Amino acid sequence: MALIAHRMSRLGTENAFKLGDDIQRCVDRGMDVIRFNLGAPDFRSAPHLNRIAWEALDAGRSSYCDPAGILSFRTAIADHVTRTRGVDVTPGRVVVTPGAKPPIGYTLQTYVDPGDEVVYPTPGFPIYESWVRFAGAVPVPLRLSDERDFAFTANDLAPLITPRTKVIILCSPSNPTGGVLSRDELAGIAGVIRDRCRPDVRIYADEIYEHILFDGLRHESIMSHPGMPERTVLASGHSKGFAMTGWRLGWAVLPTEEEAGIFKQININIVSCVPPFLQEAGQAAYEDPASAVEVEGMVREFEKRRNWIVPALNSITGLRCRTPKGAFYVFPDVSGVCRRLGIYRAYRELAESARGRTTPAGMLQMFLLYRYGVASMDRASFGRIGAEGQDFLRLSIANSIDDIRRGVSRIAEAADDRAGFADFVAGDDGRELFA
Ligand code: PLP
Repeated sequence: MALIAHRMSRLGTENAFKLGDDIQRCVDRGMDVIRFNLGAPDFRSAPHLNRIAWEALDAGRSSYCDPAGILSFRTAIADHVTRTRGVDVTPGRVVVTPGAKPPIGYTLQTYVDPGDEVVYPTPGFPIYESWVRFAGAVPVPLRLSDERDFAFTANDLAPLITPRTKVIILCSPSNPTGGVLSRDELAGIAGVIRDRCRPDVRIYADEIYEHILFDGLRHESIMSHPGMPERTVLASGHSKGFAMTGWRLGWAVLPTEEEAGIFKQININIVSCVPPFLQEAGQAAYEDPASAVEVEGMVREFEKRRNWIVPALNSITGLRCRTPKGAFYVFPDVSGVCRRLGIYRAYRELAESARGRTTPAGMLQMFLLYRYGVASMDRASFGRIGAEGQDFLRLSIANSIDDIRRGVSRIAEAADDRAGFADFVAGDDGRELFA
């Protein structure tokens, strides 16, 4: 009998957290590391929201509460969704979770049996693939390409739907690409789902970046299209839009109260509840007009940084970067840099087992970190299936413009440093990292 249950071998991870050890190693050596790897806004949670949490704590609201979430917060979420998606949502269909990550696992556990198929975007948030595998489901990656601005249409989705399809995951605005699905694209996608999917197929709409859109775009949701509210699990929360990643405030709207009851039951089994004093602040994020002002200020700042970084990256020979329409990431194609630095050759010369653990973009990622103090995420960190031959890096613009400028100039220097890369791969770090 093994110590660790077999299913644990199927559980994936989020490399953005794992990379912390490598970054710490570089920092311990005295390097100044620019953290383009982080998926957290570099803004603080708003003072008016912090104050509400403090006051609620001081008033003694520090015990267990309703495992589905306190009613006033669920009502605020239901009103927010009703207003922004144009559909009627009642608080009985809302479940508050510790962040927007848990509803991914809750959805896979609630709806998917081993052997069922789950369609999900790749590159995409790595936790989708992790949970699909953990649930014993069949992963059906929906490949996004930079030529299409990382969007997709009904024609891309239709061939992936089979009688075994159980869940279809959508994420817009997207991590890691910043791609955004337009109202027309969503209308087409909704049409295919209505035509081809049984009523018990669920759409998982991950809209955690709903507040972060550029160029005057408005957030569009699959939920707003006919036939979708009764099939959609809509998930979002406060981490990104309200710069509250450490608060762990998220939520899901379920198609029925019965399904919401199952999410509540999972909360009961794992977390009991989300702290009530945090939920009170979360409620004010939707109800106090000061929040919208904070959000707007942050989004305009991200937009300025995006406007600076995209042309700056495109001016580096070998880098090709699309202009993201939302979220706070850029996702350049780095294959030209991999060629310039001799990375493809170095990759081919690795032992087969080492090749299975990294990719050319992954080797560039480590070179940038260990030699130039620039932390980024490689394409394979956003779903391993479908990552072959795809060499991209994700850079987060949740950094000051000064750090962004310094980081880009380091990348430009690194992209010219063929001898430095050869030295890195042959040296102690390279040998250890790519063993
Ligand atoms: N979904 C996507 C697409 C994300 O990028 C993230 C965080 O990076 C999450 C969900 C998880 O959000 P939270 O931190 O609220 O759990």
